[in-house]
Amino acid sequence: MSKVQQLPLRGTQLQERHNRLEERVRKLEASLLAELFRRNEREESVQTATPPGYSYTQDASRQALPVDASGPIMQVAAHPGDGPDFFYATYLKIASNMQYHNSYHEVVLTDGEGGVDGWHPERTRQVRMKEAYAGAEIVGSRLHFLSYPDGGLSKLPPRKKTRLVKQLARKIEEIQPAILVVHPPKNDHPDHASSFLLTLAALEIHARRGGRTPTLLIHDVEFGLQQKSLWGNSPQELLAETYPIHVPDFIVDVSSTHQTAQLALQKHQTQMYDPMRGQPKLYADLIDTLAQVRGLQFMAGGATWIPRGQAVSQVVIPDLTSEHNFLLQRLPAGSIYRQVKKDEQV
Ligand SMILES: [Zn+2]
Repeated sequence: MSKVQQLPLRGTQLQERHNRLEERVRKLEASLLAELFRRNEREESVQTATPPGYSYTQDASRQALPVDASGPIMQVAAHPGDGPDFFYATYLKIASNMQYHNSYHEVVLTDGEGGVDGWHPERTRQVRMKEAYAGAEIVGSRLHFLSYPDGGLSKLPPRKKTRLVKQLARKIEEIQPAILVVHPPKNDHPDHASSFLLTLAALEIHARRGGRTPTLLIHDVEFGLQQKSLWGNSPQELLAETYPIHVPDFIVDVSSTHQTAQLALQKHQTQMYDPMRGQPKLYADLIDTLAQVRGLQFMAGGATWIPRGQAVSQVVIPDLTSEHNFLLQRLPAGSIYRQVKKDEQV
């Protein structure tokens, strides 16, 4: 066989391998998403995590890179348990780089006293705070409870709201975060959406006083589901109509830290079990399923197991937040996709 004949054959084999990978990833993605949406009773809307017009493609340059961030990290969370759900694995990944000094502060706006059906709020408050301390101990996070009413952050009387914003601004001043993480601004979870807006208000005070502007990150949406954003009219918003999964800016490879974060999450036992129904909620499983969906989005071609990923997006507001991206080496969520025009598809 001449070299001239060998070359096209090789090309065909590569193409076949690529198609097999694509097919495998698609099937895995569909089954993970089906599971997520079934548990959220949204199975009717199961589509794909791949943005429309894009397809999976193998990229040899894609690999797990360290996430570097130097300085204190602060999270503003509405409830105990939000840290373990959405950021513990990423924080541990950042902290695993010994080159940098990091500290992690979780500012929790409520005590989560409304979080267990059928329990007295005072009992729930005490148990959930204990759970939060047990989880925080695992990752080395410092908790700051502000004890505003659970379920009431969007309905605070003006005076209380002002007090909360001032308290938050003071925390930002004390902690001087390099990175500030908060819930995404989506309007189906009033406490979470309010946490975002209250944090922006606190950042305004902080900026007026000449404080250092942090890099503002919003974590992945719950269970990766696309939900209506408070910030409408973006091209992304158009995708929301047809496309049920949120597209984050970055995915951090948390394969090495996900399990420890899950251990911390398991400390929140009141959130794992529904005492009224007498059934487990499979909550940690859901977080793991989302980590797998994100992991699939950067999985290398020959991988025999699905890595775990945690997603974040950066919010840049001039004079309020830093443009600097502390996640210098990250896995851009988009890098795994190649836009494929219809006539280019094989
Ligand atoms: Zn929450």
